[in-house]
Amino acid sequence: MTRSPQDTFLSDQALATARDAAADPSLVPVAITAANGEQCTWCDCPIALHKQPGYRCGGCPATAKNVVSTFAGPVLRYDFPACERHTTDIVASVAQVVGGAR
Ligand SMILES: [Zn+2]
Ligand SMILES: [Zn+2]
Repeated sequence: MTRSPQDTFLSDQALATARDAAADPSLVPVAITAANGEQCTWCDCPIALHKQPGYRCGGCPATAKNVVSTFAGPVLRYDFPACERHTTDIVASVAQVVGGAR
């Protein structure tokens, strides 16, 4: 899947909005943009399993539909590709981490 110029434009707009939100501590800066064939970065395992030494996470085999981006500063951006099913999971956990870090 290739990205049309319009997609790129819309993505840039969304990211610019999120960047502005990053300047306001009361808002969690998260932007959701179209993915470009990345693999989903989420998984369904319980967190307790992940903490076990030697545990291998299989991850989510799905192709990402969205990229959830968040800003840790004006120039620091984290992207989390997410499949359709996991987009809300990722947004929720990002909001929790970013919101809770303040
Ligand atoms: Zn996992
Ligand atoms: Zn997924």
